[in-house]
Amino acid sequence: GAKSQGRRTYRFFVPEMDASAKARLSLEQDLRQALVTGGFEIHYQPLVNLQTGAVSGCEALLRWRHPERGMVSPAEFIPIAEDTGLINELGEWVLRTACNEAATWPAHVRLAVNVSPVQLKCDTLALRIAGALAASGLEPRRLELEITEAVLIRDDEAALSILHQLRSIGVRIALDDFGTGYSSLSYLKRFPFDKIKIDRCFVADIADASGAPVIVQAVVNIAAASNMTTVAEGVETEAQREMLRALGCTEMQGYLFSKPRPAAEVHSMFGPGDALPVAAVA
Ligand code: C2E
Ligand code: MG
Ligand code: MG
Ligand code: MG
Repeated sequence: GAKSQGRRTYRFFVPEMDASAKARLSLEQDLRQALVTGGFEIHYQPLVNLQTGAVSGCEALLRWRHPERGMVSPAEFIPIAEDTGLINELGEWVLRTACNEAATWPAHVRLAVNVSPVQLKCDTLALRIAGALAASGLEPRRLELEITEAVLIRDDEAALSILHQLRSIGVRIALDDFGTGYSSLSYLKRFPFDKIKIDRCFVADIADASGAPVIVQAVVNIAAASNMTTVAEGVETEAQREMLRALGCTEMQGYLFSKPRPAAEVHSMFGPGDALPVAAVA
């Protein structure tokens, strides 16, 4: 099918290459270039504790400022980076940059970093993550790695073993986009997650008359029974937030509180009194 065709063949010029294949090849070349010239930046979106209202963490979200196209969505370029293996280098840059940034935040604020299933195939991942933590001075328990169900669906034993290595260095593991794809509750038994991120499709209608808070309620109950916390993604309204709080969800993330913002803009969201003293630089 189109998908398997897309994996390798586009690297070579063929006259009948269609427009979308050409666009993809050109994006791939631009991605390689951007890794060298520094075309990427990271925005951070706060996670808020629903009981206290305090910012408990920030998720690192990669941004690519393309010289001609402007901002390119990660939904567009992450799959290309995964297909070409560039995700390993890119992922390491995100990790190191975000750990360095988070090391300047108050000690109770966690950093969440997305890790691609492709990165979980690399048996040096735990070593690299330990390296990024050591270089930045960020405590391992402040780092939360977000992985999607794709890893579990493939029943990938090697990936599971890498997840266990990561857990043993003290970082936390969150299951991202829970409920999308070929979700099954049985995936929750294959690995002991610290947190479930409830996908925004379950949050969108939660406060409507026709909505189904019963799904979020079920996930919250399962998480509580298994020592996991929950975060609701894509919270955009007060009504959604109030419903989530009433359902016992631990945290929220979404435009209601803040869109992802450049590093310099998140410090003010941590609240007065929480900030670590800034070292005087001569
Ligand atoms: P994700 O990890 O599920 O991240 C949440 C996405 O939802 C982000 O999109 C965020 O901007 C968006 N979002 C947050 N709050 C709201 C809201 O209230 N309403 C709506 N409509 N959207 C909201 P973004 O930044 O475009 O990232 C898309 C996806 O790209 C991420 O989904 C993640 O899977 C991937 N991604 C981003 N950065 C990285 C990275 O550094 N590494 C890897 N492997 N994947 C990344
Ligand atoms: Mg995520
Ligand atoms: Mg997500
Ligand atoms: Mg998502």
